[in-house]
Amino acid sequence: MRFVDDFADDVLAARAERDAIDARPPAGPDLPTALAELLDDFRRRRHPLPAAPARLASARRGEPFPSTSYLARLLGYPVHRLDEARPRQMIAEAADDVGVNTDCPLAHAPQGRLEGRPWLERISYYDVARMERLLLVSCWIVNAYLSGLRDSEIKHLKRGCLSVQQASDGHVYRHRLASLAFKGEDVHGAEATWIVTAPVARAIAVLERFQPQDQPYLLAPAPSTRRRSTFPVPNSNTTNKDIAFLISWITAYCDDRRRPDGIPLERGRLPRLTTRQFRRTLAWFIARRPGGAIAGALQYRHQYIQMFEGDAGTSDSGFRDEVEAEQALARGQLLAELSADEDRPTLAGPAGAEAEARLAEFARHTVFDGQVVTDEARLRRIVARHDPHVYLGTFVTCVYNPDRALCRSPEASADQPVLADCQPQACRNAALTSDNRQALADHLLRLEDTLAAGDRLAPYVRHRLEEQHRATAAFLTRHTPEIAE
Ligand code: SF4
Repeated sequence: MRFVDDFADDVLAARAERDAIDARPPAGPDLPTALAELLDDFRRRRHPLPAAPARLASARRGEPFPSTSYLARLLGYPVHRLDEARPRQMIAEAADDVGVNTDCPLAHAPQGRLEGRPWLERISYYDVARMERLLLVSCWIVNAYLSGLRDSEIKHLKRGCLSVQQASDGHVYRHRLASLAFKGEDVHGAEATWIVTAPVARAIAVLERFQPQDQPYLLAPAPSTRRRSTFPVPNSNTTNKDIAFLISWITAYCDDRRRPDGIPLERGRLPRLTTRQFRRTLAWFIARRPGGAIAGALQYRHQYIQMFEGDAGTSDSGFRDEVEAEQALARGQLLAELSADEDRPTLAGPAGAEAEARLAEFARHTVFDGQVVTDEARLRRIVARHDPHVYLGTFVTCVYNPDRALCRSPEASADQPVLADCQPQACRNAALTSDNRQALADHLLRLEDTLAAGDRLAPYVRHRLEEQHRATAAFLTRHTPEIAE
């Protein structure tokens, strides 16, 4: 996202400068005179001469030496024409006067910032193609990880694929992405739309600036790196290599600057990521919203709401099914662990006894000799066949029975509770784990703190909070599990 949000302008500016250098016409008919003027310009500006690549310098015992090929580009001549003019003496004298740089820096000064400082001091002419590759794969990753599109679906994104819905005050409340969805065996794909979040929209905007106007495919390789191919976009193998290239670039960048936010090693090596992992990882995180990092939990909830609870839901590509399957598996793993735990307090609440009965039945399929089934494929099958329909929430555990549910809206599926509309204190499907009881007790304390500063509350708000406090306290008292003597 830093490439998309903070570095893209610099990469595009550097590319424009490189392209302008490549398009220069010859600087006058007399090459030696043009070279003398160019070298004088370096002297006037006290700028060191551009250097040949470091690998060539190392062949000369590490001494940097001027790059004649880059000087030729600046003059708008092919390098062999410059060589024919026998420029060595002239260039050596200029190098004695102003020195030699470490590369061929462009004039553009990077503006992107990391902790208030430029992310790069300069961009070398010969680094632009690498930067283009890094920017392109960064946009691919933002798309893949934050939208759930498959690689093939991303590769079919075209200019103009993003549309937005705006409120009357101009605020954009929805971003919609159009592409082809490839589900199952259909190799031709079907037109589909996805609801995506703002970072994805920003990556699309960068891609539209990245591609020339006559290139419809947003993921086409940069013109400077394009190979002859029947396909306008790279295949998955090439994208995998680009991902690996980005990982090693980030690692080298962080190592050079002793930054702690590099990419963590996996079993002592840099991770090898493939295009297939991003969609699955997003589904995994949305389903589990792993604890600990509150910000992470909120982010993925936000992501989920934006992608699936808009009026259009999201595409035919099956990502919603994939997330729901992952949610069912995550729930199955939690319930299997809960049912195997013989030392836990029993569930309280109106549906506590039923919860225990369902967990005991689930344990018959998932717990053997005290060990929970860990094989994911097997657990998926068990959940599909023997789902206990117990849903663990923060404040309540829902022991779902559609006939008694108070949360079902007419459009909602009867298969599942709508936890966002839960009415735990009134619904006979509610049960309480010890974690639920703790969360409710913490909530009571927070209410008490707020009410203690009650002078500052409006009377209506104060009244509502007092009601909530009274009802929550009564609910907890009513459903305190009895301690065995
Ligand atoms: S109201 Fe709450 S407890 Fe009742 S069915 Fe809905 S989610 Fe479950």
